[in-house]
Amino acid sequence: MLGTSGNLSILIDEPAIRQTGEPAKNFQFLITASGKDKGELTEDDFLLVDINGNPAENGSLKPSAETLLHSAIYKHTSAKAVFHVHTTNSTLLSMQNTECGVQNGIEFSGLEMLKGLGFKTHEVKINIPIIENSQDMKYLASIAPSYINEDVPGLILKGHGIYAWGKSVQEAKRHVEIFEFLFEYRVKELTLRKN
Ligand SMILES: [Zn+2]
Repeated sequence: MLGTSGNLSILIDEPAIRQTGEPAKNFQFLITASGKDKGELTEDDFLLVDINGNPAENGSLKPSAETLLHSAIYKHTSAKAVFHVHTTNSTLLSMQNTECGVQNGIEFSGLEMLKGLGFKTHEVKINIPIIENSQDMKYLASIAPSYINEDVPGLILKGHGIYAWGKSVQEAKRHVEIFEFLFEYRVKELTLRKN
């Protein structure tokens, strides 16, 4: 996580969607405060927020505007942790066009590392959705659920970075790493094809 980019969050409550299949109506989560260097985080750099991304405790820490996207993901998935990172490969790849196989998402198939996303075999085809970036986080949070595919625990914001989630902090971290492997693989594959 370069500079102060990205944000990490963890759900405090059990995901309601797991029991009911319906979007959760109320929960709280801890999220990194805006403007913190992610290489130097301590427990004092996280704040508790409610389902609408508003602080649920007194203090001087401010939630990032991107908190709303974390909330949207918690509402519509069984995630217990959401990690948002601005990586070079996800950013670079999301800016490519259909000639590079990039349109509304990026497809991957036949790779052993796909098993790191929870698939039992490499013989699957997945599409990691891409959403057009916007500074209007309310808008992004309102459209994100229609892009979410419960089988693929990630969303790309074009020219911005990736959101990845999991049922634990460890799983969310693993998914970030797997996505980053896939993006790097595709960037290198496209470079090889051009040479
Ligand atoms: Zn971001």
